Amino acid sequence: MKLVRLNYRGTARFGRLAGNQIELINGDVFGEFELSGVSMSAEKVQLLPPVRPSKIVAVGLNYRDHAVELGMDMPAEPILFLKPPSAVIGHQGEIVCPAASKQVEYEAELAVVIGKIAGRLPVEIVSNHILGFTCANDVTARDLQKRDGQWTRAKGFDTFCPLGPHIETELDTGDIAITLRKNDEVKQTSSTARMLKNVYELVSFISGVMTLYPGDVILTGTPPGVGPIIAGDLVEVEIEGIGRLSNSVV
Ligand code: ZN
Repeated sequence: MKLVRLNYRGTARFGRLAGNQIELINGDVFGEFELSGVSMSAEKVQLLPPVRPSKIVAVGLNYRDHAVELGMDMPAEPILFLKPPSAVIGHQGEIVCPAASKQVEYEAELAVVIGKIAGRLPVEIVSNHILGFTCANDVTARDLQKRDGQWTRAKGFDTFCPLGPHIETELDTGDIAITLRKNDEVKQTSSTARMLKNVYELVSFISGVMTLYPGDVILTGTPPGVGPIIAGDLVEVEIEGIGRLSNSVV
């Protein structure tokens, strides 16, 4: 099922996307819910970010060849960092380049959306705690990342976490294509099969550090090919089985 969040008469609601129709959902997608029977054309609605996380936990260097590209050693354990919830924008939201940076870059990533509270989960039961998956762009001020020595500013500007367009609740993430296009040119192309740790291992590891709440988002790292974006660019993350997240840069 494809879950969207939309603005319906001034209220944020979840809906189920099927073809170009969206059917409103009654109840809580993280608990009990049902389809309402009220449908509308997807073209007529304003999509919101698919989720409002309490935190975004991101993983650095989770694709072997991206670590090589950055000249960094392969980590023995996942490298974690946080992005603030205030960075989230949705499909077709604008990425705003801050004046403080001269080198803003895209990072295409598969995002995991947590469905049920998760603390110290063994790998085998992680899937029960996942609501679904969406596309993410871990926008990064690369110059500030190097200069600051830690990543909070570089990864934390408003609009630096595009998510969407929707959450796919049924997806085998073992070997799916992940592609980033800038102005229709392919810049990143890989498969989740090249991850150092798969999504279940990552969620298990992170849940051993901090409790994950429904709606929290895990960014699972980016493949090689990261590069700059500037005002006027259109940047798109496409993940096989999910869809395409498009954002313009201003
Ligand atoms: Zn990243």
